[in-house]
Amino acid sequence: MIPYGRQDITEDDVKAVEQVLRSDFLTQGPVVPRFETAIAEYCRASYGVAVNSATSALHIACQSLDLGPGDWVWTSPNSFVASANCARYCGANVDFVDIDPQTYNISVECLAVKLRQAKRSGKAPKAIIVVHFAGQPCDLGGVRALADQYGFRIIEDASHAIGARYHDEAIGSCRYSDITVFSFHPVKIITTAEGGVATTNDLFLAQRMISLRSHGITRDVERMQSDSEGPWYYEQQELGYNYRMTDIQAALGLSQLQRLNSYIEERHVLANRYDKLLAELPITLPYRNPDYYPSLHLYPIQLMGRNERFDVFNALRAFGIGVNVHYIPVHTHPDYQRLGFKKGDFPIAEAYYDRAISLPIFPRLKTEEQDRVIECLKNLLSNGSIQHG
Ligand SMILES: *Cc1c(COP(=O)(O)O)cnc(C)c1O
Repeated sequence: MIPYGRQDITEDDVKAVEQVLRSDFLTQGPVVPRFETAIAEYCRASYGVAVNSATSALHIACQSLDLGPGDWVWTSPNSFVASANCARYCGANVDFVDIDPQTYNISVECLAVKLRQAKRSGKAPKAIIVVHFAGQPCDLGGVRALADQYGFRIIEDASHAIGARYHDEAIGSCRYSDITVFSFHPVKIITTAEGGVATTNDLFLAQRMISLRSHGITRDVERMQSDSEGPWYYEQQELGYNYRMTDIQAALGLSQLQRLNSYIEERHVLANRYDKLLAELPITLPYRNPDYYPSLHLYPIQLMGRNERFDVFNALRAFGIGVNVHYIPVHTHPDYQRLGFKKGDFPIAEAYYDRAISLPIFPRLKTEEQDRVIECLKNLLSNGSIQHG
């Protein structure tokens, strides 16, 4: 089966991990801060905070912004559930803003309309979590302008977007946002097995996240609220979690980071080939804003309709092509329907979902394998075996 995404592990990665395994530190030791610094430097942010997943990073990002009961957090329905769940972990209320039909990212027009309405009804959001879907940067400038007008905080869920640029600005620089979160799950752009990093330019937010990832405990005498009782002394100052990354993971991440730019170049070569060789088919290819540099985590196409998507998906899987669908709109999951959301609430995200298939794209996807995907699609869509609509 050709998967839709896959990690690339080299001998150097194995050596880097092995070196940690033979060292004194397995959990958070000297490599984690090196990885954090490397990620922050790569994106030109002041601070990086490494944790055991992007989901954890989103959670402590929300908590460091003091999101809690009574607050509203808005995000895109076209995302993995973690983009919305993180606000609920803090007891905040979640709502969604529909997507732009061209970019599949949060629609700034819908956001502006919803903000005007929310202001009147007293349900203005305290934070908005934008998602750079498939690695296409969303309109950060547009969202920032609305944040300045309405006074909400911005978290970027950049799980798909390390290495992407919004105009000339690296995603993760937090020039337009408070915090950016990356995922290093194996299907993402680079991997640490499980893992995530939050970047920020705000020292206070960085310190809060560092505290929350490790039980809310500090060993820093400078920051203690009572007198130190001796060299063993530490203090729990708030209720935190065990969300630490290990040195094993950080070593893998540091090694992978060396190849980040070349990985994205490989993704561009593959996406350009899909663009060219699928151009004649009756499908919608993913839009790319020429002013941004996407990381191309996914290559989502849209078929003509629900039934066609169903048939093409099954046929491709039967041919050994591990296509996938991104995303089931978050608000349609039963757990969100229980909160009062229903199908029809965010029609653009739903219409997109009904017709979407993500084709395989990852570094080291061979030209022959990509050609097989293209040939299968061409055969399916041109020989009449699949009904349109
Ligand atoms: C993968 C992903 C996450 C969660 O990442 P983990 O590291 O697996 O917790 C969150 N948001 C989006 C958009 C993702 O794709």
